[in-house]
Amino acid sequence: MKSIRNLFKIGHGPSSSHTMGPARAASIALKNAPEAESFRVTLFGSLAATGKGHLTDEAIRKKLSPKKVEFIWKSDEEPNNQPCSLLFEALDQNGKIINSYRDASIGGGALSSDGGLEEVYQWNNMDDILEHCNKTGAPVWGCVEEVEGSEIWDYLEEVRTAMVSSITAGLETGGIIPGGLGLYRKASSFNRKSKMFTGFCKVNTLLASYAYAVAEENACGGVVVTAPTCGSSGVVPASLYLLRHELVQCSVNEVLRALATAGLIGNIVKKNASIAGSVVGCQGEIGVACAMAAAAVTQILGGSPRQIEYAAEVGLEHHLGLTCDPVRGLVQIPCIERNAHAAASAMICANFAMRSDGSHRISFDDCIQVMYETGKALPALYRETSTGGLAQIYEKHLNRDKELL
Ligand code: SF4
Repeated sequence: MKSIRNLFKIGHGPSSSHTMGPARAASIALKNAPEAESFRVTLFGSLAATGKGHLTDEAIRKKLSPKKVEFIWKSDEEPNNQPCSLLFEALDQNGKIINSYRDASIGGGALSSDGGLEEVYQWNNMDDILEHCNKTGAPVWGCVEEVEGSEIWDYLEEVRTAMVSSITAGLETGGIIPGGLGLYRKASSFNRKSKMFTGFCKVNTLLASYAYAVAEENACGGVVVTAPTCGSSGVVPASLYLLRHELVQCSVNEVLRALATAGLIGNIVKKNASIAGSVVGCQGEIGVACAMAAAAVTQILGGSPRQIEYAAEVGLEHHLGLTCDPVRGLVQIPCIERNAHAAASAMICANFAMRSDGSHRISFDDCIQVMYETGKALPALYRETSTGGLAQIYEKHLNRDKELL
């Protein structure tokens, strides 16, 4: 496995696969041909189907600015079976191609050309990690420090700070989320309303306010941390923020260690399956975010490596089959609400794990395999193309309303 730095990336939303990855690819294209007069960019598959809603063209245009950019959208083609492929053609002043560069965005802001990044972990799955913990007595977070060195804590502090900033920014901002759906930002009002409640109701409303805050920031193109993706970036920060500031007042160091464990969980899925909605549906984004948060919370509550693994497994298992069908290709419906739902679910998963001794029949590694197979069996309609499910029913209602006018 590669470094968890490769999983937690700080950058602008709304989509790691459709905004961050393509923006990085555009920087590479520009570096390859800085003398180009203009660029022709062809977007394929899911990138073409939902790229407008996800602001893919805007992200690329910004990186290539002030060069002129022409876009070609080919949603019915998926070169090399990669759902988010893109081709950059650098043109001279006569429109002649002087350089061409192909890549694919593979989720979490990563590109397939990153493939050569160094594999730093000797373990490739959760069973390997549990075996190491059992043999040496190391905690799960200790495996991250052992491999990535003590410098990893500085990086995770940057990640934590960016996560907190996205919560704060989201709680302070109101108004309508751009994109045309007319959705109001809800985080600040949820936060205010939480003060009217006590007990479970208060905690649950606060947790939702934190998750909405990050997801709404993401939908507005604000800065978030992929955990594991932009679309699912609210789940881990919301859970950890609630724990630190409301429930157990844990220290910053405990939060950093929890982030290390969460990163390892996301990394294992990335290594053995996929975290891209365009490849495996939302189970790979929100399902994995829930697993990461559940493991992190369990660790803070004092869970053993076995209980941490169990929490992650429950978090993923109950999101198996979850489809990705964002309305109008925007990372808003169902994405924003789904972050709050998964954060609540992560707390429940941690609760289940802490009340058990951690023994269970289906391992986290098994669950990842099932998620991958389920994802591959999902029709393209449910893999970030916005041609089925919620996206389709929304269009149907819109057309019916127009006919009634
Ligand atoms: S439905 Fe899930 S996978 Fe799809 S864009 Fe939204 S958060 Fe990402």
